[in-house]
Amino acid sequence: MSVKQFEIRKEKRETNEQLSVLESTQQVIHTALENMGYRQEVYELLKEPLRLLTVRIPVRMDDGSVRVFTGYRAQHNDAIGPTKGGIRFHPNVTEEEVKALSMWMSIKCGITGLPYGGGKGGIQCDPREMSFQELERLSRGYVRAISQIVGPTKDIPAPDVFTNSQIMAWMMDEYSRIREFDSPGFITGKPLVLGGSVGRESSTAKGVIIAMKEAAKVKGLEIRGSKVIIQGFGNAGSFLAKFLHDEGAKVVGISDAYGALYDPEGLDIDYLLDKRDSFGTVTRQFSSRITNQELLIQPCDILVPAALENQITEENAADIQAQIVVEAANGPTTLRATEILTEKGTLIVPDVLANSGGVIVSYFEWVQNNQGYYWTEEEVDTKLEAILTASFLQVHQTAITRGINMRLAAYMVGLKKMVEASSFRGWI
Ligand code: GLU
Repeated sequence: MSVKQFEIRKEKRETNEQLSVLESTQQVIHTALENMGYRQEVYELLKEPLRLLTVRIPVRMDDGSVRVFTGYRAQHNDAIGPTKGGIRFHPNVTEEEVKALSMWMSIKCGITGLPYGGGKGGIQCDPREMSFQELERLSRGYVRAISQIVGPTKDIPAPDVFTNSQIMAWMMDEYSRIREFDSPGFITGKPLVLGGSVGRESSTAKGVIIAMKEAAKVKGLEIRGSKVIIQGFGNAGSFLAKFLHDEGAKVVGISDAYGALYDPEGLDIDYLLDKRDSFGTVTRQFSSRITNQELLIQPCDILVPAALENQITEENAADIQAQIVVEAANGPTTLRATEILTEKGTLIVPDVLANSGGVIVSYFEWVQNNQGYYWTEEEVDTKLEAILTASFLQVHQTAITRGINMRLAAYMVGLKKMVEASSFRGWI
């Protein structure tokens, strides 16, 4: 990092101005590499994705007009193998965010030992305002626009915020047409009948529970009877609410984009899941709802941010009551908030570890596609648990041994192999 760049950050810290997600990621990468004794050149290689493609996608809307959408695909580092990571459909997608998300994917794959580097894609759009047909045209247009740089041995996309197995199916079909052969290994998170893996849909939530159980052991807590708040009721949040409820935890709070529900006696999760609309939102139907920000500071043992970035900031970190924060979302806690919570003794299980269940089972899906041989749910679950538990223990051990927080420890563990692979290839 140039001295000037660092000074800007220092200034931002002193004036309490919030760092962008990319700047925060670069800061942690810099510290992690420095702690491991790597040279400045290593940081220069890893501080940005190796490749970023910006595309403009014209889509014929149902009313006959044409709208042009902006999309991105970032590939952080492919020293270990092809890049891997989801595609996000959201109005707030930016180039910076996609870059940071691709870097987080590298770290996730590094921690869990997957043979991938990190990638990520995004399209600036609001799928809640688009018809099924418009979404299909947008999905296919995006694949046509990025087809040169993706593929089963180059860069393998997957679902992320507001994308699902149907969107993966359209994308797989479009890619297969372009290449003129069936290419299930091009994308993961597909429907089962198209080469999806059993257990992929619920894998992020399953991984979060595995990480949560390990964190609970560290804190001497039991999941059964614990009070849990989940912010976000999308793919991760809703499956998580169900699993926790089944495990005997008391889910006392949930939320979606419109607000939050909190009941210290525990919410009726089955009822709420049943009441969801097609976008998974439910809180609008209740007049007793509170705001997302109010929810985060309500009493609970475990808090799971499972929505978007920058939810726990220095504004609210001191008021968070949970003993454990498990980051199911990517980037929900700012660096300053991480410091405040760590000082208070709150254990934060960082996103790059806590939500890695998704990409782990995506890897299983890709392996099954390559083999043409499909596994049972039990095999998927057993392998997922083994990888995640070992990853948690390694990161936790690094944190304890070095006296650092788990986020920094996760970055150190996650980056090590990528640095070694880049070095063997002669890049640094
Ligand atoms: N979008 C998910 C993530 O952020 C999954 C990525 C994948 O399966 O490749 O980890």
